[in-house]
Order: sequence, then C-alpha cells, then structure tokens
Amino acid sequence: MAADLRGAVLDRLKTIYPPAPAKTVPAPGRTSGSGEKQGKGDIVSGGLVSDIFIADGQVFFAITVPADKAALWENTRRQAAAEVEKLAGVNRVFASLTAEKKPAAAGTRPHEESRSGFAARPAHKRPAPKVPGQPAAVKQPLPGVRHIIAVASGKGGVGKSTIAVNLAAALQANGLKTGLLDADIYGPSLPRLTGLLKPQGEDIVHFHDKKLIPLQHYGLKLMSMGFLVEAEAPLVWRGPMVMAAVNQLLHDVLWAPLDILVVDMPPGTGDAQLTLAQKVPLAGAVIVSTPQELALSDARKGLAMFAKIHVPILGIIENMSCFIAPDTGQSYHIFGTPDALGRGGAEQEAARRNVPFLGALPLDPELGRTAERGVPLVISHKTHKLTQIYRRIAANIMRQLHLPLPAEGA
Ligand code: ADP
Repeated sequence: MAADLRGAVLDRLKTIYPPAPAKTVPAPGRTSGSGEKQGKGDIVSGGLVSDIFIADGQVFFAITVPADKAALWENTRRQAAAEVEKLAGVNRVFASLTAEKKPAAAGTRPHEESRSGFAARPAHKRPAPKVPGQPAAVKQPLPGVRHIIAVASGKGGVGKSTIAVNLAAALQANGLKTGLLDADIYGPSLPRLTGLLKPQGEDIVHFHDKKLIPLQHYGLKLMSMGFLVEAEAPLVWRGPMVMAAVNQLLHDVLWAPLDILVVDMPPGTGDAQLTLAQKVPLAGAVIVSTPQELALSDARKGLAMFAKIHVPILGIIENMSCFIAPDTGQSYHIFGTPDALGRGGAEQEAARRNVPFLGALPLDPELGRTAERGVPLVISHKTHKLTQIYRRIAANIMRQLHLPLPAEGA
C-alpha cells in the first residue's frame, strides 16, 4: 500500500517544475507549477526531491534548492505540497525546502556574536535594555508570576505551538505551576491543541473583578485570543489592536500564582514580535527550528532579535530532526544531514552561537494524532520517548532559571 502511495506521490511530483530563471519571471508567485513546463525537467527527474516518507497518511519530503533562490522556490514548494495533498490516502503533507549550506550563511556578524554572550548571564541581573532608535520598553511584571519564557521561531510551520504546549505540560509534570499564553493573535492554535474550541456565540472565558479567568485544563492555566473571539475576527485587526490584545492577555488575566508562564510567540521576527518581546518581562527565550539551513537562517534572526533586546536564549530545540521508521526503528535525516559528531543543523548552530542546545525531537506521527485529539502528547503518553525528551528540556530550562527539579523518577 505504502509503496503504491509512494509511487503516486512521485508521479504527482513529476508534474512540478522548477521556477524559471528570475529574469524571465515577472513576479514571484507566478513561477512554476503543475502543467506549466517552464523548467528543463521536473523536480523528480532533476534529482531535487529527497527520500519520501509516509506514515499514517502523512507524507514528508524535501526539495533541494539553491540557498539564494529560496524565495523563488516557495511557490513551487506549495504547489508540490498541494499536488500531493490531492491524492486519496494523504491527510497531510510536510514539504520543505532544503539547501546546501554556504559557509557565509553560517557566519555571524561580529556584533551579534558578542551579544550572544548574554545567554551565559542570568536574566534577572541585567539592566532594562533599550533598543537604539526606540524608546525603552516599559515592562510591567505580572504579579504572582515568577518567570515568563517565550517560545519563538523564525517562521511558521516548524512546530513552535506544538512544542510550546508540550513544554508547558512537561514543566507542569516537573512540578511547576504552569500557564500558557498563546500570543499569536492572528492564528491562535491553543484552542485546537487543547481541544478547547469556542462554540459560536458562546462564552467560554469568564470574568472576576473585570479580570479574565484563564481556562484550567490538564492542570495548566491557558489563555488565547481563540478562546475569546470567533476564529476570523482578529484577521482584520491592525498592529495597535494586536498589541492591545496581547497586553490584555498578559495583564488582565488572573494568572497568579504561577511558577512559570510560557508565551507561544507569533511566528517571525518582525516589528510585532520585537515589540511583544520587549513588553513582556522575559526570563528567556526558547528558539524552535527545523534542521535545514533555510529554517536555521530564520532561527538566526530570532536569536538576533532577542539579543537586540537583551533577552537571554535558554536554548534551541531542533524539531523534526529525523524520521524514525516505525517498522525498522531506523532514523532518516530528511531535512539535513548531521555532521561527523552526529549533530543536526540546529545543534551545530547552538554550538556556534554558544547557546544551550535543549534537544532534538524526531518527526513522529503520534504528535499529529494527539494534536488532532486536542491532548498534548506529554499528557496522553506519559512514558513516550518524546515525553521524556520534553521533560529533559523542561528540566534544563528549570536549572537555568534556578527552579527546583523534581526528585528522580517523579
Ligand atoms: P508552528 O506553531 O511553528 O506554526 P505547529 O506547532 O502548528 O507549527 O506545527 C505544524 C504541524 O506540524 C502540526 O500539524 C503539528 O502537528 C506538526 N508537527 C510539529 N512537530 C512535529 C513532529 N515532531 N512530528 C510530526 N509532526 C509534527
């Protein structure tokens, strides 16, 4: 069955052609596509498609592209994914662009390198930073909340929200009173990941003394714009409204008492993220990346953003580091080959930046399944390999924040 489906996936991918050279392309977004034979050969015949892995109707593959042409290829990637998604038996497609690493891309500008030294210093011993050209941010601590940490990624789709919810569950399993704030106003994912979907026209969040009461689920205190408004509403909001909304979710929620509040940041490293990261008194940030060079270049922007506002990096998590075949247990590195020391791209990046590497999470269809059911894997599968990794990552973060660790075996 899987072999048939694999063949069908390859057939679909043979209808996808590389984008035409930039000078003949009027605008990105009209580059290539099924049926439009603009390139010399399709992406399969050109040897650009990685191994294809299929598990439970989920298809994983990568397309190798020149690093400096990645933007031009984004449309092709989407078309490839859309084409494969049409196949019967395919529920979800993970298509990624991957590139050979260029030495220059791995380098850092000297001022960034020196700033990464902040990672080594404890957060609470640092003066309030001021970003050049911007007024110093006013950071209001949240009464009764000991630590706030951000989970961030340079771009969407790398598993940031999945990691934020499971990390929160792992911190809670390690004995901390934990809250989780979904700060992605445009695309809140916490309702889906926790199964707490707001029925139309019904309120699921209530007030006490004009303060919002967070939802309590799985032992976590949870808040998301998705609990408050219908799904489409925030899409029309503009920057200041978004900031006002995030402020409300931070300051007008009865979070206390909490040992730790995990903030699932909106994807990206633009002004909105910078402003948000500046407004919240962050004890540190966790950067999520997948191993391929293109994702890492986005992760570097995340590192630079937090360095700019002097927020320490608690570490990098590599998601989708490899695929472990369920039948043989063999691992395949779809999104980037590890180095001679067995380190994936994100771990190498962490070493280069002198920031902690928190751990590598393999591609695991169980994560997708638990997300569909609205139960974080760490809650539903207490002895699962990934749960153990999450708990180790949580313990690492707790050590950095000087929080007491649970007794062995707890
Ligand atoms: P982001 O918040 O970065 O946009 P999500 O957390 O929404 O990403 O994850 C994107 C998709 O990838 C989801 O469908 C999620 O279930 C899936 N996913 C994330 N991490 C893994 C993993 N390690 N293995 C398999 N699927 C994963």
